[in-house]
Amino acid sequence: MSFLTSPIEYLKGVGPQRAEVMRKELEIHTFGDLLYYFPYRYVDRSQIFQIRDINPNTQFIQLKGEMESFKMEGAGRTKRLKASFSDATGSIELVWFQGAEWVLKNLRPNVEYIIFGKPNLFNSSFSIPHPEIELVTQQKLEEKKGLQPLYSTSERAKKKFLDSKALQKVTRQLIDSIKENDIPEYLPKSILESQHLISRYSAYQNIHFPKSENILDDAKYRIKFEELFLIQLRLLKMKHNRGNTVRGYVFEKIDHFFDKFYKDKLPFELTGAQKRVLKEIRKDTLSGKQMNRLVQGDVGSGKTIVALLTMLMGIDNGFQACLMAPTEILAQQHFESIEPLVRGLGIEVVLLTGSVKGKTRKYILNNLAEGNIHIIIGTHALIEDHVVFKNLGMVVVDEQHRFGVAQRAKLWAKGATPPHVLVMSATPIPRTLAMTLYGDLDNSIIDELPPGRKPIKTVMRTDADRSRVFGFMRDEIASGRQIYIVYPLIEESEKLDLKDLQDGYESISRAFPRPQYQIGIVHGRMKPADKDFEMQRFARNETQILIATTVIEVGVNIPNASVMIIENAERFGLSQLHQLRGRVGRGAEQSYCILMTHSKIGNDSRKRIQVMCNTNDGFVIAEEDLKLRGPGDLDGTQQSGAVNLKLANITEDVHILEQAREIAFTIIDKDPNLTQPENQPLRRHIDSILLKNPWSKIS
Ligand code: ADP
Ligand code: MG
Repeated sequence: MSFLTSPIEYLKGVGPQRAEVMRKELEIHTFGDLLYYFPYRYVDRSQIFQIRDINPNTQFIQLKGEMESFKMEGAGRTKRLKASFSDATGSIELVWFQGAEWVLKNLRPNVEYIIFGKPNLFNSSFSIPHPEIELVTQQKLEEKKGLQPLYSTSERAKKKFLDSKALQKVTRQLIDSIKENDIPEYLPKSILESQHLISRYSAYQNIHFPKSENILDDAKYRIKFEELFLIQLRLLKMKHNRGNTVRGYVFEKIDHFFDKFYKDKLPFELTGAQKRVLKEIRKDTLSGKQMNRLVQGDVGSGKTIVALLTMLMGIDNGFQACLMAPTEILAQQHFESIEPLVRGLGIEVVLLTGSVKGKTRKYILNNLAEGNIHIIIGTHALIEDHVVFKNLGMVVVDEQHRFGVAQRAKLWAKGATPPHVLVMSATPIPRTLAMTLYGDLDNSIIDELPPGRKPIKTVMRTDADRSRVFGFMRDEIASGRQIYIVYPLIEESEKLDLKDLQDGYESISRAFPRPQYQIGIVHGRMKPADKDFEMQRFARNETQILIATTVIEVGVNIPNASVMIIENAERFGLSQLHQLRGRVGRGAEQSYCILMTHSKIGNDSRKRIQVMCNTNDGFVIAEEDLKLRGPGDLDGTQQSGAVNLKLANITEDVHILEQAREIAFTIIDKDPNLTQPENQPLRRHIDSILLKNPWSKIS
């Protein structure tokens, strides 16, 4: 057992009871866990301020002065103790909601104290709730040199006397007893020098108890760098291994299905970007290595046809292909768009989802194993063990961020030679996130929309504008267009003031009466056949308005629909809004997106809506989404390591991320197995992480 793996109760000042709280409340089990439990901020306690310095922007402040008078106020739950605290420049109120007895027993008027806390502004005067209080002594003043760490804890931990201060004490204990070889360096000297990195030992000491602002910055930089560097090194190593130790199928011929489809069936000329991406794929599938490629393209950029042509390359060479979607609805929609395209080519395409049962299921599984089925479309149930292919050669994953690195790796087990893998991202991903999520993949971007598309005009409207919006809808319908109206929920929610679908349907029906107007409705709770019926009616322009929930988010393609109205738009995330908007703007007509919101909406919602009104570019929207929400809330990032970062932030530390990737790249390029002496500590470090983190076991 090394020092850092010692159980936390062995640390001086911890003991069994406190250890219990640390384990349960803070997930600190070992010395190492405590070492990695970083402060959330630092305060400069070397300075003592004056009461007149306090202003509305003051965060934490340290003051020196005396208590003048104590008084109890209120009764029952609102009972609180107040004291007036003053120095030469003024006075401020201190407030205690709990522990009044202790305060009254221990604090004396007319004695000098140092207090520390966060001033609140209330009714134009400041008060400090629950300040930290110390007697003024020479020793106390000495101890205050340097920055003090603040640690977050839980309410429960605080009740058990494990507050920030207590954590600071035990961490101090840990740092004082830690030796340099407990935190050994593993980065090669050359990197330390070129990146001006301080040693690991010094970084971990100073992240807790920095001697100065400068060294704190150095410590943060070093730790961020190593977090990002290790992820990149693993990804690039994985990529390198795959390219060099794993053979891939060679798709020599594309002279039958591919050619025939291209000549006879392709309904349009491919865009330059589509052609370029197909060439990249073609090159991969001829290389003898396994393809692992990410294709990113905005909504409507035409990824489906690229997927299909890619699958046809495999089929031409005697292989089967599969297309995986994250949800059943999406799988169904892919099936519906692909099946008619290849009709008459002599290719069998099937759909396999959880709701395909009995005879049909049996038929599919048998014929898949026999090799009679060429293309199978479904959810990730397709990669489960009981689904057996005769010779799977091409896998397309329509991803929407939801398949992690680990799930992609699962495809390998299916055969000695792994199939080629094409990952399509349905929503563009910010570049930094792509580097972290898909750093092991090659990257293609479809950065061009099919010709003739006019940018969608997006506006924000509130209930007060409703009659104007109705007027606009009538005009659009009169000129032959169709309209989507999307609602967030299917049924009335008791708590939230949401316009529910049914209400919406009724009010729209009143404003757009039959027989002049026909209205359809679709939602997730409908039977598939009924939903299908409604969608078909809309597709044939038998209904002019389609009222829907987000079931129409992806895949639906009705070019004559030119207006997308999103009710309670503030309730949707950015990428969802962008996906929904992508349902219009698919024909030659000018299209519109109207974001209906409550008249009072929060700041974040307002920002989201503004982003939507300002741009149609999915990549810009993705960047903004990442900034507004952080990586933790984006779909699929959980498995990626991007959110397990303790200190680094992939939106803010772009520069460090790029440096880290470049250096990782150089190392893997020169010494892929990390066998050279200078890289051996690195190799050992990575191996020790691999043991702890199953995510990375797949390299
Ligand atoms: P997405 O990238 O969002 O999956 P789709 O593949 O659904 O986009 O394509 C959007 C629409 O554009 C479809 O109607 C498709 O038929 C059409 N499309 C795709 N490529 C082209 C092209 N090169 N020229 C014209 N229309 C195209
Ligand atoms: Mg699509």
